[in-house]
Amino acid sequence: MCTTSLAVELRAVRKTYSSGPEPVVGLDAVSLGFSAGVFTAIMGPSGSGKSTLLRAAAGLEGVDGGQVLVDGTELGGLKDRELTVLRREKIGFVFQSFNLLPSLTAAQNVALPLKLAGRRPRRAEVAAALAAVGLDGRSGHRPDELSGGQQQRIAVARALISRPSVVLADEPTGALDTRSGREVLTLLRDLADGCGGSGAGGCGCSVGDGCGRAVVMVTHDPVAASYADRVVFLVDGRIAGVLDHPTAERTAARMTSLEALAC
Ligand code: ADP
Ligand code: MG
Repeated sequence: MCTTSLAVELRAVRKTYSSGPEPVVGLDAVSLGFSAGVFTAIMGPSGSGKSTLLRAAAGLEGVDGGQVLVDGTELGGLKDRELTVLRREKIGFVFQSFNLLPSLTAAQNVALPLKLAGRRPRRAEVAAALAAVGLDGRSGHRPDELSGGQQQRIAVARALISRPSVVLADEPTGALDTRSGREVLTLLRDLADGCGGSGAGGCGCSVGDGCGRAVVMVTHDPVAASYADRVVFLVDGRIAGVLDHPTAERTAARMTSLEALAC
């Protein structure tokens, strides 16, 4: 059965960086929920806290105040080992620069999270993950034998192999050309809608169980944001607004006014 609850919830989350001469606010009392089946874009000027928000939601970064809950479990209450297991099982993370291991094939990269979890990956599940992103014919290729768009789709397959509740993507199209970027965005849209992917597997729900994931994507691109169900705008670590059913035009207009505000 598909869950309808919040995959990730941030409750009054604060994060301050104190390493420099002056403390820097990363997040300032941010409360936000990410539900299964909903694709959220996070936008805001550079330095507004978008990556901090994603890392806090993934438990990659501790917070100074408030709570982060993943599938109802508060991350602050977990021991390191428990946090590692929860992250591995519940969270898929996609980076702008793909972060694939260059010496491993596509299939080995996709299988890696299962291996790290001490499982022996089944050939069929790795093949299904690759098919879901339309790359079943490339399983033996190494990253440098694939285009940027293909590498990012491998990274998405790797994020999906553990059937996470949430997929967090930090500027996943930032290093891609327009066409490859659109393919990755369609893939993320399909994930939220409960489809396996837009590739060869079509809408066959070949990865996971047919349930929509919570998908959260940081982007600078209003067209990318228009693939989402809503856009959350950040300024100076705070939520500055939410736009439902965003179009590229309305998103761009809102960004322009926020950037003026941030100056
Ligand atoms: P964005 O992704 O929106 O560009 P970030 O979340 O990366 O913004 O950063 C938010 C603020 O926190 C910025 O002012 C940034 O300089 C600061 N910051 C982020 N990470 C660190 C860090 N590890 N140490 C110190 N300051 C940081
Ligand atoms: Mg960032």
